Amino acid sequence: MSKPRVAFFDFSSCEGCQLQIVNLEEAVIDVIKLVDIVAFREAMKEHSDDYDIAIVEGSITRPMDVERIKKIRENAKILIALGACAHLGGVQRLGNQWTPEENKAEVYSRHPGGPESTGDDNPFFEKPRHLALDEVVKVDYVIPGCPIDKGEFAKVLIALLTGKKPPIPDYPVCVECKKKENICMFEIGKFCMGPLARAGCGAACPSAGNECEACRGYVSDPHNNAHMEVLKKYGLTPQEIMQRNTMFTYRYIEEAKGGV
Ligand code: SF4
Ligand code: SF4
Ligand code: SF4
Repeated sequence: MSKPRVAFFDFSSCEGCQLQIVNLEEAVIDVIKLVDIVAFREAMKEHSDDYDIAIVEGSITRPMDVERIKKIRENAKILIALGACAHLGGVQRLGNQWTPEENKAEVYSRHPGGPESTGDDNPFFEKPRHLALDEVVKVDYVIPGCPIDKGEFAKVLIALLTGKKPPIPDYPVCVECKKKENICMFEIGKFCMGPLARAGCGAACPSAGNECEACRGYVSDPHNNAHMEVLKKYGLTPQEIMQRNTMFTYRYIEEAKGGV
């Protein structure tokens, strides 16, 4: 029986999630052997547009990206969003708060050559709004995180190949954090998105003394109001809450405002 054909694609991203897969350890490479990889720009020269599963990294930004992802969707039986850029629109989605002109002035005026060097007709500035994949095409599965966890990638692939539901947790990071008996970030005057963030990372950030910024997105039924009350209780102003609530999760704020 022929193996499922898998192709990797990238849009606006740092390519760090694909790098996680390139760097798979031996045990996980065995999983990859269960499929035929027919396109993976970061790892091989060969390319085929005949594939069953498309694994896509990055946010959709330009009109030409919309056309490209629609074509990928047409070709694929299954489409997987890989990492926070594809899942949520990524850190770059923060740029949706400002107009293209404001972003351009802020970023390029600081660099030698300035905005003139990019040219006003540069297609990047046509309509640069960062969107998650599922805001443009149907997405079948998401592997969350920035970057993704290689072990979780392997588990999702095995589940797909064996006809099972991919095992992505739907409870908050706090659950994993409490199990590890970490001191809560709030108790030491820090901020944390753990009550809203989707678990599966083993509470990686709080376990290392860092604040969780919900790179894996929110659980499907997050208790936003309760989280806000906790933040206020620990003395954060609405402006501070807004600034720190948005690293990976500006998508939710746009959706709460009524869409993008
Ligand atoms: S999710 Fe993070 S690691 Fe993955 S491509 Fe986006 S920025 Fe890079
Ligand atoms: S540190 Fe963060 S993840 Fe851990 S219990 Fe506190 S709020 Fe939850
Ligand atoms: S603790 Fe939060 S920010 Fe850190 S990896 Fe987990 S979900 Fe992402």
